[in-house]
Amino acid sequence: MVRSHLDIGTGTDKTNKTDRTDGTDKIQRTDWTDRTDETDKTDRMDKTNKTDRTDGTDKTNKTNKTNKTNKTNKTNKTNNYGRCFESVIIKCMKTLREIINEADSEKTAIGHFNISDTEMLKGVFVAARNLNKPIIIGVSEGERDFIGIHQIAAFIKSLREEYNFPIFLNADHTYSFERVKEAIDAGYDAVIFDGAKLPFEENLEITKKCVEYAKSVSPNILVEGELGYIGKSSKLLDEIPEDVEITDEHLTMAEEIEQFVKKTGIDLIAPAVGNLHGMLKHMKNPNLNIKRIKELREASGVPMVLHGGSGVSDDDFVKAIDAGISVIHISTEIRAVYKNGIKTALQEDTDEIAPYRYMKDAVHNVEKIVKQRLMLFNKT
Ligand SMILES: [Zn+2]
Repeated sequence: MVRSHLDIGTGTDKTNKTDRTDGTDKIQRTDWTDRTDETDKTDRMDKTNKTDRTDGTDKTNKTNKTNKTNKTNKTNKTNNYGRCFESVIIKCMKTLREIINEADSEKTAIGHFNISDTEMLKGVFVAARNLNKPIIIGVSEGERDFIGIHQIAAFIKSLREEYNFPIFLNADHTYSFERVKEAIDAGYDAVIFDGAKLPFEENLEITKKCVEYAKSVSPNILVEGELGYIGKSSKLLDEIPEDVEITDEHLTMAEEIEQFVKKTGIDLIAPAVGNLHGMLKHMKNPNLNIKRIKELREASGVPMVLHGGSGVSDDDFVKAIDAGISVIHISTEIRAVYKNGIKTALQEDTDEIAPYRYMKDAVHNVEKIVKQRLMLFNKT
């Protein structure tokens, strides 16, 4: 495994400051291989060791951007992240499809974690690295607009290359073909067209169009379809949203999933099986319908994705994985602990203005949650 450092935020990249809008502190030295927990030094890697770069990646190649603010494109590969990603996959690691198929046959699940900024990403990545488990980073339309559609692709690519680590990028809940295309063109490994609220036929037609476009770019890009509405929010909820039905007759049906997968050609499917986007504040989320998951997995013929993982009980997760879930989405609970970390740090030291200090606990909180989830999903 490659063990080296990514100089994000170190200020070493003097040439590329044109569209830095996030206020990240240029003097922070970030160690993406290490635990954020300062108290746990048992398997920390050497922060000072910068000489063990073995992957040959060029530290000066940081400008894979195609936006017009950056005229100094230094990439020595290609501007198409998809091709960059593919070359890396072929050279270094399994494809996302292979990793998901393995999870499917081994009855484990890949953790899919949503992030809104690079600090959350750090918490997720460090946890995954320490456990050596593959991960998918999800960015919704809002999340990727906030970080930058191309910028997050470049960031994930840099982590994947530098650490030779199976980290993949998914365009989570995308509501139009145009935005699916945009993510594919930016080099995302996977995309979700979410037509769950549309009439069946309309959902099917647009999903199919997304699949055709993805496959025309690369057979390695995975397309996920959504069948069955489970709400839209990644919030802490007082109650189940009115428009989300979790009774058996409203869950995804075996006949429709079979038809949907066959006609669209999707690689992955996200059904409604009693799951719910968002997390109930005062209780566990409702139980999943494990029997339905089993039926749907058999009928769909493709790996299945469980959305709305936050708030689901550990027991339900294990049963769902055994029944045929291969990817699990976690977002709300990461957001909640991240915010709490920042809030507490700012309350404890109201004078602190260095983000790399007051964000530290927030990053660590994310890492802890992701670690727990990855251990559960991978049955380790
Ligand atoms: Zn979701």
